[in-house]
Amino acid sequence: MSTLNKKSVDDFNAKGRRVLVRCDFNVPLKDGVITDETRIVAALPTIQKLINDGAKVILCSHLGKVKDGPNEGESLAPVAVRLAEKLGKEINFVADYNVTGEAATAAVAAMNEGDVVLLQNTRFRGKEETKNGEEFSKELADLADDYVCDAFGSSHRAHASVAGVTKFITEKGGVNAVGYLMQKEIDFLGNAVENPVRPFVAILGGAKVSSKISVINNLLDKVDTLIIGGGMAYTFSKAEGGKIGNSLCEDDFLDYALEMKKKAADKGVKLLLPVDNRIGDDFSNDCNIQIVPTGEIPDGWEGMDIGPATEKLFADAVAEAKTVVWNGPMGCFEMSNFASGTIAVAEAMAKIDGTTIIGGGDSAAACNQLGFSDKMSHISTGGGASLEFLEGKELPGVAAADNK
Ligand code: AMP
Repeated sequence: MSTLNKKSVDDFNAKGRRVLVRCDFNVPLKDGVITDETRIVAALPTIQKLINDGAKVILCSHLGKVKDGPNEGESLAPVAVRLAEKLGKEINFVADYNVTGEAATAAVAAMNEGDVVLLQNTRFRGKEETKNGEEFSKELADLADDYVCDAFGSSHRAHASVAGVTKFITEKGGVNAVGYLMQKEIDFLGNAVENPVRPFVAILGGAKVSSKISVINNLLDKVDTLIIGGGMAYTFSKAEGGKIGNSLCEDDFLDYALEMKKKAADKGVKLLLPVDNRIGDDFSNDCNIQIVPTGEIPDGWEGMDIGPATEKLFADAVAEAKTVVWNGPMGCFEMSNFASGTIAVAEAMAKIDGTTIIGGGDSAAACNQLGFSDKMSHISTGGGASLEFLEGKELPGVAAADNK
């Protein structure tokens, strides 16, 4: 059950309605060929449901960054072809770089119930899309009666096709709902953060403290145990007077690290940091390797992964948990000699009988690469979006959906 209680595709009658669906079709392309169709497959249940309901289904999405203006290389044309194959039905792709406009209006006007139209890459409208332009938002809304957002990975961005459009749909009395993918993200992440089954353990790693400041701060208000590994941990070690050699460190955040330690102590939250480290004398897989206690990294060496005692410490904490949220690898997992800490955490999570959530980005990549994906309860499709969720921020794309 969602704590956010947003209206979903199951909560309104879409028969005969023109429904604009914001998907995440931002698929990887190589020479015009889709190299990973995960996002297309993930979008199918919502689309199929609306087709079955007899809606006129108008799909839109961004693709790539579109830095140099509209171009064929970033057209959604290959998505239209693959999507039609997957759905087993014809899709009317409106190739017009204007996205909305006459061609789109004509295509929508010709639709019958159950038909599917795909609009062109929303980023072809440049800043009108990325700055939430009123005109483009209204043009999108003009094509439809109702709106469904199913693009969680874009929901932290106040873009026209994610946020702006909803205002105009509301003005004309339409419904703004979330699709099945969004619903799943909201349910897992929302429940974990707002209403977790305890003990609730969060694991943070990755390169930088600075990118996770608000996450650490917010999670300390929610969790029973906060585990910090990865490159971030060395800022904490240095703040306590430890020797960290050449390890990653953000000197501007030494005070912050101490503040967070104090906050954890004041709140009775267990804050676990590495007690030992795998260190290397060069940032490469085949460097010389040693294991040393935290705070004792010699000059010329750098911390590349957590050590075996820390792996056990972290795994034991995870073993007791009923809810675990993980964002950020424990070390340089891309190098096989420094993947052990990240594997240990993934293994520990895979074993528990509780809810395990991977917060997208690098931890999702690590899980895939190391073969643990099917062992987790939920792997978020949005790295940036799930981090903002964990920071306690209201995501524009989620906020814009109607409450039930
Ligand atoms: P982030 O994007 O902040 O989640 O960082 C992910 C990256 O952090 C990965 O590419 C890891 O290789 C890197 N990383 C993790 N631990 C360390 C470390 N001890 N030293 C350098 N890089 C690290």
